[in-house]
Amino acid sequence: MVPNIHPNHYAATYPTSVVGQTGWHMSDTNCPIGPRSFAAAYRSAQSALTAAEIVMQGAPHAYALCRPPGHHAYGDMAGGSCFLNNSAVAAQALRARHARVAILDIDIHHGNGTQGIFYDRADVLTVSIHRDPAEFYPFHWGHACERGAGVGEGYNLNLPLPPATGDDLYLRSLDAALDRIALYAPTALVVATGLDASEADPYAGASVTTGGFFRIGAAIAALGLPTVYCQEGGYVSEILSENLASFLGGACSSGVLA
Ligand SMILES: [Zn+2]
Repeated sequence: MVPNIHPNHYAATYPTSVVGQTGWHMSDTNCPIGPRSFAAAYRSAQSALTAAEIVMQGAPHAYALCRPPGHHAYGDMAGGSCFLNNSAVAAQALRARHARVAILDIDIHHGNGTQGIFYDRADVLTVSIHRDPAEFYPFHWGHACERGAGVGEGYNLNLPLPPATGDDLYLRSLDAALDRIALYAPTALVVATGLDASEADPYAGASVTTGGFFRIGAAIAALGLPTVYCQEGGYVSEILSENLASFLGGACSSGVLA
């Protein structure tokens, strides 16, 4: 199904038509549903849950190679190749053992679904570093002024980046993200691990080098928190796998628990 309408829910009425319902539950056309879509999304979310369980059993960290990704999916709306929000599922699972959980989204696209799911909650801090949405997907969300609502006000932090952000500027934003997380003092962390900030990524959202990914992984690990890494975006390039190895190498090289 690819719907021909995506209402913004302003004064809209929930339809009985499957086409209308599909449009209601999709924010864009980049999440078509086929016969195997649910099985794939379900197993991807189960990968995130397994990683969360491994960490809750005492491992310092675990990496889930989630496919499809999840961070653009809301509680009731798919979008951007995402159907079930794996990082949110992992964070909610961690809440069983941890009073405060933080999610750090380093994908170059804003984690709009994750933000939406936890927007009015204070028990899960959401922080996203991403290309400024004024000119980049998901366009409608990810601005710095979006800080949460109700009891969740102040528990969502967006750090938009200018075009062509390289290692040093990216690491400065990461420092701000990690400072906010440290202030929140969570006892567990989920990292929505996008690799599309790469200088070789076809979306050209930023210019992070392979060595930069090592530094990013090491800086996150230095928080010393039990951490679940959920794979998010990262598009095909000749150095995609090197970037993942570099990031995970950094994550394992530093920090109290590594
Ligand atoms: Zn992305």
